[in-house]
Amino acid sequence: MNLPRTIRPVVGLLIAFLVALVVPASAGAAVPENVRVVTYDASQAAEFRDAVDAGAKVWNENVQNVRLEPASGGAADVMVLADNGWPRAEVIGLGQGRIWMGRQAVNEGHDTIRIAAHELGHILGLPDNRTGLCEDLMSGASAGPDCDNPKPNPDEIAEVERNFAGGVLIAPQVFREDVLATR
Ligand SMILES: [Zn+2]
Repeated sequence: MNLPRTIRPVVGLLIAFLVALVVPASAGAAVPENVRVVTYDASQAAEFRDAVDAGAKVWNENVQNVRLEPASGGAADVMVLADNGWPRAEVIGLGQGRIWMGRQAVNEGHDTIRIAAHELGHILGLPDNRTGLCEDLMSGASAGPDCDNPKPNPDEIAEVERNFAGGVLIAPQVFREDVLATR
C-alpha cells in the first residue's frame, strides 16, 4: 500500500482491531461474552423433545442477547416436562423455570413447536397477550388451533432483547394456557 507515512500506524491499528473483531466470531460455536446462555433439559419432555429443540431454535434465530442451549450435564436453567394437562410455564426468574408441554392442547390441534416457543417466551420474560392473532407468538391458544406460527413478532423480539440487555427482574409466576378455555 502506498499510504502517507503518518497514517500507516492508524491503518495498522485499524486492521488489528478488525482482526480482533472477526477472529472470535469465525471461531464457530464460541458465544460472545455479553450473550446470556440459558440451558434447557428436554430429556423428560417425552414425545415433545424435537418440538422443544425446534422452539429453542426459533428463538435463537430471532434474538441476539440470549441463546437457548441443551444442557450438557448438571442442572439446567429450564426443565421441560410433558403431561396430559394444558401447557404451562412456571417462571422462577428471567431465563429460569419449568415448562409443561401439555397434551390436552396438542389433542385439540395446537402446534407443538408453537407451544414450545410460546412457553419458552414466558421463560424469556414475556407475558401472555391474547390478541387472537397468529402473528403474535404470545397470543398462544387464542389464535386458534389452526395457527402454527412459532415465530415471535418484532415487538416480542424487542422485549426479549431488552430483558436480557438489562438483566431485568422477572417476578416468579405461573402462566396457564387453559385460562383461555374459560375466558
Ligand atoms: Zn402463555
